[in-house]
Amino acid sequence: MPAHDLTDVTASSDEHTIQCRGERFRRYLTAQDIQARTAELGATISSDYRNTTPILVSVLNGAFMFTADLMRGITIDCEVDFLKLSSYGDAKVSSGEVTELKRIDANIEGRDVIIVEDIVDTGLSMEYIIEKLRPLKPNSLRVCTLLHKPASTQHNVPLDYVGFQIPDLFVIGYGLDYGQIARNLPDIYILDK
Ligand code: 5GP
Repeated sequence: MPAHDLTDVTASSDEHTIQCRGERFRRYLTAQDIQARTAELGATISSDYRNTTPILVSVLNGAFMFTADLMRGITIDCEVDFLKLSSYGDAKVSSGEVTELKRIDANIEGRDVIIVEDIVDTGLSMEYIIEKLRPLKPNSLRVCTLLHKPASTQHNVPLDYVGFQIPDLFVIGYGLDYGQIARNLPDIYILDK
């Protein structure tokens, strides 16, 4: 059996490109790049929150992998909870609509909350999440996103911790999907235009 038997994601002859759902993607951030930056973010958060026990609110599905690695880089006590929003479906562009599919379970009143996202694109989802969580009266509310596409962000959301700023192109891998597949790629790939 081949080591990587991915039905709709295939390596091409160029080891830096893959095909996913019939489109070509180029390797953009390696697992090592991601781990190094995630460790830096974890260290910064550990320092900023050294006098408290923050709760990470991870946004499913995309942020599950980043959240796991970020938590391993945090050296102070911290908690985690999850919320889930509707996804892009099979599309590469935002539908412009956000709905909540799963709420958080934790009581965040008086807590220091860090929302953990895989990517902020238009900012609509983050604005929606902040509007949902703020009335729950956290002591503080900050945002940590692995990726940010500044050129396409239309909603004014504060991004306190950003891993990488990237161009306005569709990316997959490391939790980020294309029609639900490709999340298991250890590296992040960008649409090869
Ligand atoms: P926004 O609401 O900021 O436009 O988009 C946020 C959500 O859209 C992200 O949490 C992610 O699920 C999805 N998204 C935005 N850009 C990309 C992208 O380039 N690739 C993938 N796979 N998902 C994206």
